[in-house]
Amino acid sequence: MKVSKKILLLISLLSIIFVGLLKTTNTYAQQTFTVVLDAGHGGKDPGAIGKKIYEKDINLDIVLKLGDMIKQNHPDVKVIYTRKKDVFVELGERARIANTNKADLFISVHTNAAKSKSAQGTETYALGLAKSEENLEVSKRENSVILLEDDYTTKYAGFDPTSAESYIMFEFMQSIHLEQSINLASFIQEQFKTNANRVDRGVRQGLFWVLRATSMPSVLIEVGYISNAAEENYLSQSKSRTKIAESIYNAFSHYKADWSRKQQGKIAASNNESIPAIKDNDKSQKVVEAESRENQNTKTEILNVEEDYRIQIFASEKIYKQNSSLFKGLTQIKYYKENGLYKYTYGSFATRQQALKELPKISKLFKGAFVVHFIGDKKQ
Ligand SMILES: [Zn+2]
Repeated sequence: MKVSKKILLLISLLSIIFVGLLKTTNTYAQQTFTVVLDAGHGGKDPGAIGKKIYEKDINLDIVLKLGDMIKQNHPDVKVIYTRKKDVFVELGERARIANTNKADLFISVHTNAAKSKSAQGTETYALGLAKSEENLEVSKRENSVILLEDDYTTKYAGFDPTSAESYIMFEFMQSIHLEQSINLASFIQEQFKTNANRVDRGVRQGLFWVLRATSMPSVLIEVGYISNAAEENYLSQSKSRTKIAESIYNAFSHYKADWSRKQQGKIAASNNESIPAIKDNDKSQKVVEAESRENQNTKTEILNVEEDYRIQIFASEKIYKQNSSLFKGLTQIKYYKENGLYKYTYGSFATRQQALKELPKISKLFKGAFVVHFIGDKKQ
């Protein structure tokens, strides 16, 4: 790929994400949660082909069942499908549906295939960088649907789904939603294991066009291997697909409960109401003093206390310099390491209230920012 082509690809991808971000800017008053359910493939694109069933049909049935479960149990959640029948939908269109509907979550359902007939199990991908060759292979296969679309070279700005080089171009575009995506992916895998008794192949990170172009936490689920006779047999039964849908549903409910809790915190902060204090039994005297100082309306200062509150802005697999443009001009950046990711935080506040006061401003720069509590350099 030529350098000019690479730049073109980069600019077009960045603009998709930027426009998406503008459209999805949080309004704290917004109470409804929108989830976009994406049944992979469809119509002229069957996806992976088994001996008796196509991937596209497994995906659609699971997604429709999942949607029904969500609608029945979460009246405050708006469910949008990228397809409800056996039709072909372009990848870019799937992302557009999610972005224009200002979705809070994007769940894509797929079925795996491998040359090895013994390969089995479920895996869930969070938006991010393909780490291993194997992950890259899955990403390439799922993205290759682009080739079925008319005129893909212009539409995807030179993106060649079969070239490893195209994927490398994504590298620096670490998602601010990566952490939420990984959380949901872990809930899903846990449910597959405990609720549906499936083989757990873990949470992975892959580069899927459909995930890259969405500007909200996104996961892509591979519900099993159609190329494995036992798993194809399992997935071809309606009651098994119900079990899979139910597992994703449980994980969704868990994720949604966490989301609602965080949203409540943001609403209280933006209304400047007093937030019920977190019951810290071991709250240090210094923090109590800091809070009373704040109540007397004295100047907020960064105190050299052992305990502080920071605003987490994003997570990445990489270490960035303090002056990286990724921090959008913010100073006082720190990071801590958790689950193999570097989690970047802004500021150091003596109380949760102070951090929450600052949060709406930071959320404008980093959607999904939230407050974390530290004692020393340990996240609580
Ligand atoms: Zn697929």
